[in-house]
Amino acid sequence: MTDSTTTTTATAEPDATAAPAPVPETTVSPQEVGDWYDEFGDIYHQTLGESVHCGLWFPPDRPQPANLDLVDLSSLAQDRYTDYLIETLDPRPGDHVLDIGCGTGRSALRLTQQRGARVTGVAISRQQIERANKLARDHKLLDKLVFEHADAAQLPYADATFDSAWAVESICHMDRAKALGEAWRVLRPGGVLMVLESVLTDALTEAERAVFDGMLASNLPLRMPEFFGLVDQAGFQTLELKDLSANLAMTMNVMALACHDQREAFTQRFGAEFTDLMIAGLPAARNIVARKTRFFMVLLRKPVAAARG
Ligand code: SAH
Repeated sequence: MTDSTTTTTATAEPDATAAPAPVPETTVSPQEVGDWYDEFGDIYHQTLGESVHCGLWFPPDRPQPANLDLVDLSSLAQDRYTDYLIETLDPRPGDHVLDIGCGTGRSALRLTQQRGARVTGVAISRQQIERANKLARDHKLLDKLVFEHADAAQLPYADATFDSAWAVESICHMDRAKALGEAWRVLRPGGVLMVLESVLTDALTEAERAVFDGMLASNLPLRMPEFFGLVDQAGFQTLELKDLSANLAMTMNVMALACHDQREAFTQRFGAEFTDLMIAGLPAARNIVARKTRFFMVLLRKPVAAARG
């Protein structure tokens, strides 16, 4: 007779003498797998690329972030971009850097944390300045980080105040000639200005032009010679030019996906009119970024013995 109690005494440890758990039955046949790939396999190439496997977004020797969604993924990429800009600007500890169009202050914060530079940031949005100042307070960096509401075309700073400056994806919103002129004025001789900016490589349709003022609150991009005409006119020398176009294109693609994913929430938060305009404009915006513009990091210097051209 078997002792029925033995079968009910479960232990946490696997019992080496027990029969192995049954392997789940195979439910797809090789034929079905082959047919599936024949019919639908292209979905992988249409969405991911030439291989039929995943990408190495996070190298195995780094901490693997948990619960990543598209926005977290993009935020990590933004920080990598900021770090590249910091490395390229290369400020010294104690330098005073001007952040022209500083957004909500995260780039300035990283610059201060990594390099010990002082940063003054200006933006035309009062709400952004409030958020940026809260960030400085929260990080107890009020002695190093100052954010002020100001127009980059009329900066409230004396000539030659700053050692360096950057305008990260911001001068597209401004009168570019005035913004470059003001940056030149407030930089010390020999000071460096970094600009992140798109230039036009192809003609835009009417619908594409509407994307800039309607959807992005931006002026139209200039052609390369027009942009460098303004750079010369302001009195800057060009030190370096780096094409970062693929990064902006990738970012637009992520933004498009994230907008579609969050359409309902955006309609609640921003209203249907803005959300619909945004979603309707995304294909044109992606096409402009991927095919009709190039996106550059431009490093400029105010010459030591400087006169404007
Ligand atoms: N550089 C930031 C923000 C980019 S968004 C970042 O990389 O995160 C563009 C920024 O330019 C916004 O902060 C906006 O307020 C600012 N901006 C636009 N026009 C401006 C103007 N005339 N004067 C100052 N800031 C301006």
